[in-house]
Amino acid sequence: METRLCDIRNLNSEEALRGLKLAGEILRGGGLVGFPTETVYGLGANAFDAEAVASIFAAKGRPGDNPLIVHVASLQQARELVEFTPLAEKLAERYWPGPLTLVLDSRGLVPASVSAGLSTLAVRLPSHPGALAMLRAAERPIAAPSANLSGRPSPTLASHVLEDMQGRVPLILDGGAVEIGLESTVVDARGECPILLRPGKITQEELRLLCGDCPAAGQADCARPASPGMKYRHYAPQGQLFLVKTWREAEALRLQLLQEGLPLPLLLLSDESAGELQQRGVPEEQIISLGSEARPEEFAHNLFAALREADHRAASHIIGQSIPAIGLGAAVMNRYTKAASKK
Ligand code: AMP
Ligand code: MG
Repeated sequence: METRLCDIRNLNSEEALRGLKLAGEILRGGGLVGFPTETVYGLGANAFDAEAVASIFAAKGRPGDNPLIVHVASLQQARELVEFTPLAEKLAERYWPGPLTLVLDSRGLVPASVSAGLSTLAVRLPSHPGALAMLRAAERPIAAPSANLSGRPSPTLASHVLEDMQGRVPLILDGGAVEIGLESTVVDARGECPILLRPGKITQEELRLLCGDCPAAGQADCARPASPGMKYRHYAPQGQLFLVKTWREAEALRLQLLQEGLPLPLLLLSDESAGELQQRGVPEEQIISLGSEARPEEFAHNLFAALREADHRAASHIIGQSIPAIGLGAAVMNRYTKAASKK
């Protein structure tokens, strides 16, 4: 299958209008489309079409027990798919359109495979203008996980989608670099307070302030199923990633690896640490800067691209500097720690 790439950065351009029309046709016909959102790129299919949904799992090599998020163009479309609770109303009012996914009881309109057989369904109204334009062109809800091969870092550029999905999908809409760079915050919104299933840009601290409480799954006293997809190895580069806290630890580990006769490691560092190590003679080409230690949003924005860059450079050993797991740092460290785990 030939994969077409279509630039939709200017939504009023002829290329974008043609691409969106084609995306609508492909999606209605049961095909797959790669598309930008404000979090990461998604791989979409008609949520009502079981065969189209099955082809998402096939294209990604995704385990069938890892449920998908259904993307909608309006609150009304979401209400048709799931049972809204007062909490869901409050969260949607505050955060939609935006990077928050709500897990609610399904009304049973979409095939069970979308939610991996669960009685709940995850729904999200994204804010990205290109994503919204595509959802409108499709004229139906779109099931979409991240557009990477299962296990790989989520795509934050159209070129990342092409890397993983070339020959597997007919169309990728190129909206340029995504804004946030990490997947949406996922909460179970069926009860009195949100239960955090996956950390993201909308932080646990923020949700706690709005709702009084926001326990993480597992910490909640009520027995709820945790987010099934979170058990899998995720976001992993091909090389081995080691996490350290400071530039001193990074330098000590770098020297240790060299002493062991291993190839030069690649360093993923804060801007501040990159400066320190360069002053100590570590060549620039062995370092990728993830952003300032004071701005976790920069780490969020750059992490997945840096993990893919490590693969492009065939880095067998990667030393990654972590940041405090506070606020958005918690979402960054959730992905970073998974990327560093061996299995
Ligand atoms: P992805 O879009 O690839 O980030 O995957 C979507 C993620 O959303 C899954 O891996 C789950 O962690 C979560 N999710 C989707 N549907 C549900 C659900 N019904 N219950 C709990 N978590 C869900
Ligand atoms: Mg994913």
